Amino acid sequence: MFAREVDAWSAPGGPFDPALLTAHDEAETFPAEACAALDRWGLPDYYVPSRFGGRLARLDEVHALLRTVASRDLTVAVAHGKTFLGAASVWTAGDGETAASLARHIMAGQAVAWGLTEPGGGSDLLAGELTAARDGTGWRLTGRKWPVNNATRGRFVCVLARTDPGGGPRGFSVFLVDKRATAPGTVRHLPKMPTHGIRSADISGVEFLDARVPADALVGRVGEGLELVLKSLQLTRVACVALSLGAGDHALRIARRFLSERRLHGRPFSELPHARTVAGRSVARLLLAEAVSRTAARAVHEVPQELSAVSAITKALVPTLVQGQLRLVGELLGARGFLTGVEGYGGFAKVERDHQIVGIFDGSTWVNRSALASSLPALRPGRRQATRVGPPVHEWLREEHEPAPLDPHRLGVMARDNTVLGSLGDLVARLATDAPRGADRLAARLLEAQSELDGHIAALRPTAGPPPTATMRLAERYEWCHAGAAALALWVANPRHHDRDWWRDGLWLRGCLTLVLEGLGASPPGAADVFDELGSLLLGDAGDRVSLFGMPAEVSA
Ligand SMILES: Cc1cc2nc3c(=O)[nH]c(=O)nc-3n(C[C@H](O)[C@H](O)[C@H](O)COP(=O)(O)OP(=O)(O)OC[C@H]3O[C@@H](n4cnc5c(N)ncnc54)[C@H](O)[C@@H]3O)c2cc1C
Repeated sequence: MFAREVDAWSAPGGPFDPALLTAHDEAETFPAEACAALDRWGLPDYYVPSRFGGRLARLDEVHALLRTVASRDLTVAVAHGKTFLGAASVWTAGDGETAASLARHIMAGQAVAWGLTEPGGGSDLLAGELTAARDGTGWRLTGRKWPVNNATRGRFVCVLARTDPGGGPRGFSVFLVDKRATAPGTVRHLPKMPTHGIRSADISGVEFLDARVPADALVGRVGEGLELVLKSLQLTRVACVALSLGAGDHALRIARRFLSERRLHGRPFSELPHARTVAGRSVARLLLAEAVSRTAARAVHEVPQELSAVSAITKALVPTLVQGQLRLVGELLGARGFLTGVEGYGGFAKVERDHQIVGIFDGSTWVNRSALASSLPALRPGRRQATRVGPPVHEWLREEHEPAPLDPHRLGVMARDNTVLGSLGDLVARLATDAPRGADRLAARLLEAQSELDGHIAALRPTAGPPPTATMRLAERYEWCHAGAAALALWVANPRHHDRDWWRDGLWLRGCLTLVLEGLGASPPGAADVFDELGSLLLGDAGDRVSLFGMPAEVSA
């Protein structure tokens, strides 16, 4: 079982030994031992779709694997998992030969970087100045990508390049560059950048100096690069949030230990009601993050045409939920959240630093919220159900449901429906038939909040340019409503779990709906009690694994 392997590697002297990884962090040296262990185990196979010979058939599997790695060390997960992000455009384009060749290299352990950002452009992809000009049958690349994860170590880098000097939405194309196949002196690495977190990762850059690449370096078609990147980002954003879940796991492991070890004023610290409530609130944030992430990982297969909205919601909300969770754990730990040399607790400061990157790269929280805000008019209530086909959400979120095959051709750039949130009324009605105590009242309040939000969205009209602040606020409320609907859908879909640890009495659902209502500005009754219950459960056996589901069957074998 992968999780057990990673645990074993974390023993003293192993490749995931915290002392070794801390030493790498302090020296800013790459965690090569841990990445090599993951290569030997075969993690790269899960970055390659099964149709190209790999083992990526279900996004929830790669999600669970990356979460497990991140729960031990986020930097290692960022450093290793980047290959999935770097290769995503190739899988999305589906070019047979290029994809098959890249698949072989990845499964042999080669890393792939993803170069979108440029020094002057930041999040604005249309401002990219790295140029690809035709040269006979091939192309010549000139310009820089920076900052880029694995830009130096990665043999391959997938870049977005300007192919029409005038730019614009059809002015860019994607190229997969094998750096080893370029002429000497035409590719230069930019120095590793010192960073606040993930210090040992290879955060550097790459400069192309009239570098010639062959015709088959082009991924997809000329002029379709921006669309290809926007579609690929939908997959990578869903994958990325596994890093947040792992960071949340790591922090709760430390919090649980502290709650059970620490004594204060002659009594166990866990007897302090506020400490339990804060711990429980922290648990609820992680479980809500998991509910949103899991729903997104299934949406990739079942409603890919809606993924532009679902991935933006997920990437905006999940890192935010977990960053808030880390802040709560930091408060709980007091000095031990700040001191880096206390045995068992030193890792907290590192994970808190490391996690900040998840809300920045692959589209920041604001960038994703802004994308969602711009698509709200297309998601307005009257349009819903226009495209809804296939099984209902409470069917495809059943744990044992076999997800539909991953089909990048079904991805779009503008969602016109959100099946998860659009099913809220139906889910609330289904909950009423078998509601755990108090959950029905919380769900009814969520439905009221959604109905009010619908009214505001119905009044929106598409506008050119960046969305105004009021629309950004609506988008944030939309994220909370979506999160509540995702939690409800998972509850309704999985009655078999209702008597298990976190599920019993609807505990996790009540905790998550309480958080959602608070996020929407309400003061749901009984909040302190439900968080106290969650905090108490953290101290019991269930606290060993704060998760709604176990590892997917295949990767736990
Ligand atoms: C450690 C690290 C690793 C990275 N790895 C990679 C990599 O592998 N590949 C890669 O291509 N890039 C990578 N990046 C770059 C990262 O994705 C960029 O930071 C990101 O593209 C944003 O650029 P910027 O930070 O310069 O912000 P800017 O784009 O200058 O944005 C400034 C601020 O405005 C906000 N903002 C920007 N656009 C909008 C909008 N439309 N609506 C609302 N708010 C907005 C941003 O959130 C930010 O707060 C990495 C960055 C770091 C720090």
